[in-house]
Amino acid sequence: MTSSFQPAPRPQPTSAPAVVANQLIKHFGDIEVLKGVSLEVPEGSVTSIIGASGSGKSTLLRCMNLLERPDQGELAIADEAIRFTRNPQGGITGLDRRQLQRLRAKVAMVFQQFNLWPHLTVLGNVIEAPMRVKGLSRKQATALGEHYLERVGMADRRDAYPAFLSGGQQQRVAIGRALAMEPRLLLFDEPTSALDPERVNEVLGVIRGLADEGRTMLLVTHEMHFAREVSDQLVFLNQGHIAAEGTPEDVFDDPRCRQFMAPAA
Ligand code: ADP
Ligand code: MG
Repeated sequence: MTSSFQPAPRPQPTSAPAVVANQLIKHFGDIEVLKGVSLEVPEGSVTSIIGASGSGKSTLLRCMNLLERPDQGELAIADEAIRFTRNPQGGITGLDRRQLQRLRAKVAMVFQQFNLWPHLTVLGNVIEAPMRVKGLSRKQATALGEHYLERVGMADRRDAYPAFLSGGQQQRVAIGRALAMEPRLLLFDEPTSALDPERVNEVLGVIRGLADEGRTMLLVTHEMHFAREVSDQLVFLNQGHIAAEGTPEDVFDDPRCRQFMAPAA
């Protein structure tokens, strides 16, 4: 099927950061899970976050699209900047609804457990947010959805329900769904950790293709070889602190990371 859909042009790579997080702090109850995390992701580049379980990787990603709200710090995505502060009553200020919506529309996330809607078809999953959040008509959203399903190699399963797909296929649909929002930043939280080993490569292949296209991405992964291969920047998170950051070579050679890396070497 041909469609008149034209994907949105992506910003050209520049040295300007697409994402800046400055001194993000996040508590759950009395526990400080992020202890002042600062991070820059240049436009068109891939940053991978590695670290032990419980070190705050998912919380950091979830703060990036405001699934979690930081207690303190600053976050800027493209031209949308937000400063978080605790008010004296213990609540958090720094966000109005419209700003929240604008920021969320710039960021899309792919989860470990795919999180597809089971009652919607593959195409239904992909067109839902473009219709609801971006206000596209069903026809427009369908053209866009078909384009991005093609991109992840799932166009021929557009009418299938998630339960009839393998984990790898479901994750590729979830990536198509994220792309259909045409976000400035793509977040991946351990996108292959729930997959059978023989399904890992088909998903890594899609992510590698997106990296080669110059998409701006922040990726949490335990696939060390993959992280090393696709990342421009690597961040090692340890107990809510960035313990090391730099090129993959720098970080892999850092003695603080050696112990963590050893099992994967
Ligand atoms: P990682 O992704 O690196 O494994 P997480 O960001 O999921 O780490 O978790 C970091 C810490 O925050 C853990 O101690 C975890 O138990 C805690 N935590 C995460 N989410 C919540 C939550 N919603 N409520 C309370 N504690 C949480
Ligand atoms: Mg996690």
